[in-house]
Formats: sequence, structure tokens, C-alpha cells
Amino acid sequence: MLPFKLIYDDRYDLHLGAHVFPSQKYRLVRDRLLAEGLADAQDFLSPQPATDEDVLRVHSQEYVRKLKTGSLSYAEILRMEVPYSEELIEACWLAAGGSILAARRALAEGWAGNIGGGFHHAYPDHGEGFCVLHDVAIAIRRMQFEGAIERAMVVDTDVHQGNGTAAIFGGDGTVFTLSIHQENNYPYPKPPSNIDIDLPDGVGDDDYLAILERHLHKVFDEFSPQLLFYVGGADPYREDQLGGLALTLEGLARRDALVFDYARRHQVPVAITLAGGYARRVEDTVKIHVGTILCARDAARRMAPAARTG
Ligand SMILES: [Zn+2]
Repeated sequence: MLPFKLIYDDRYDLHLGAHVFPSQKYRLVRDRLLAEGLADAQDFLSPQPATDEDVLRVHSQEYVRKLKTGSLSYAEILRMEVPYSEELIEACWLAAGGSILAARRALAEGWAGNIGGGFHHAYPDHGEGFCVLHDVAIAIRRMQFEGAIERAMVVDTDVHQGNGTAAIFGGDGTVFTLSIHQENNYPYPKPPSNIDIDLPDGVGDDDYLAILERHLHKVFDEFSPQLLFYVGGADPYREDQLGGLALTLEGLARRDALVFDYARRHQVPVAITLAGGYARRVEDTVKIHVGTILCARDAARRMAPAARTG
């Protein structure tokens, strides 16, 4: 029913209970797509966990050892801001495998989405801000290792700057990183992305979209990626508990459509990940993430006739 595959696994849910990070949202996104007849069961693929070899292309041996043996310090677990468990480790390896699969399907079919991932605050040697493994970096490194791509671009619209992404790819000319985020918000410090769009508090739809478009125009002209990873945060939403921007549901959909339209016009395959979302009502976060998938669907359908004639 959808013109591309979505990657999902029930084990993405970390079962965090009353935690501000609603990790049940992955299941809720999947359920809503099915319940509203927007997707059917065949649209979903279940990922294999990333291999340790995949993970070690991004993360340090010491950090991976601590994760796998449960020997993180108390301070390291506090910094992750999610409780350590074997299920957490399984979920993180699976989410990384999900982003690898999304990258592969995007390269084959033009579009794919991981209903999970986008853990952009994870560094090579530590986790923070609900992020343990940097699934997007792991997927890009795997695609480069296989020779499937040389150059990738990460466009990150989460309200929080993509510090892990910036740290991992800083100084690497093969991966272009763009982050549009609220300046006066976690993380501190913010290591430089190729482009950081630091927004003041309270920015609304029109200003946000205008500045994003100006930058997309420039980066798509100057850097021609063979794969775009979209880190589509739901947290620039005006009702978000951890964000201080003021986008509406409609503005967020226009944001996604804008990014996808640039990718479509430049014929760049798109792999989507979901990233953060902490709306007061979890239904709103789910609606925003579902909206991202629907924007991709619409862009993919617009692409099809051109592909047939071209
Ligand atoms: Zn965020």
C-alpha cells in the first residue's frame, strides 16, 4: 500500500513506564498507520540487529564492551537518561540494524523509513540524552564499507542539536551534516555540524520554513549526496515538553515536505528515522511521526511518473 518499506520491531519499545521519553510511540505509530488504512502488514519489515562489527565502525571498543557486559558506571547511565537493561541493549542494536536496513532499501527503492532510530546524541564513547548507539552513523558507515555509497547527508530537524552526529562526522568530507534546532536548549556544548541553524526561542512555522529552505537550497546545490538520512524530530512542536520552538502540526508537515521535495528534485534516496518527540499528549507525537511518513509517501508518488519516463 505504501510505495516504500517501513522498518519496525515490537522490541523497539523500551517499556520505560512514566518516563518523559514515550518509547511506546514506535508501536503507536505502526498501529495508527495500520488502523487508518495508510499502510498494510506487508509494508513493514523486521530488522536484524546490527552486528558488533557494524557498531564498532562508529563506537569505541571500550564503550561497546561496557554496554554488552553491563559495566557502565552510575554516572554513564545517568548521562544516558534511560535505565540500563538487557532489553535496552537489544533495542539499540535492533534500531541500528533497522537504520541499516532502511538505508539499504532507500538505495534500492528511493525511500524507506525506520519507525525508530534517530539517536543523534550518541557519541563514539558514550551515550546521552536517551541515545545509546548512533544508528544513523552506523548505517552510513556500513553503506560506505559495502561500497554502496561514498557521500551521505544527514538533515536533522529535531529541536535539539545533533551533537553526536557532528562529533562523529566532524572533519569527514564524505558526510555532510545539517542540524536545525533551538539554540537555547540541550545539548551544551554543541560541536559544529557542517551547518547549524541555531534558532531563537519561540520560532514559528513561517520563519522556520523560510530559513530551512534557504539552507536546503544551498546544500543540495553544493554537496551531491548519494543518500539522505532524515532525522525527523517531532519536538519542534509548540506543545513539546522538551522543546521551545512553536511549530504547528501543519508547519511540521510542511517542514517534512520541504526536505523531501529537495531530495526528490535532486533524485537523492531518503532513509527516514523518527528522533525525539515529547508532546504533552503522546497522540500528538504519534500524529507528527505518522505525518512524516505520509509526506514521504506523497513525495515518493510524485517521483514515480518522472522515474518511468526518465
Ligand atoms: Zn530532541
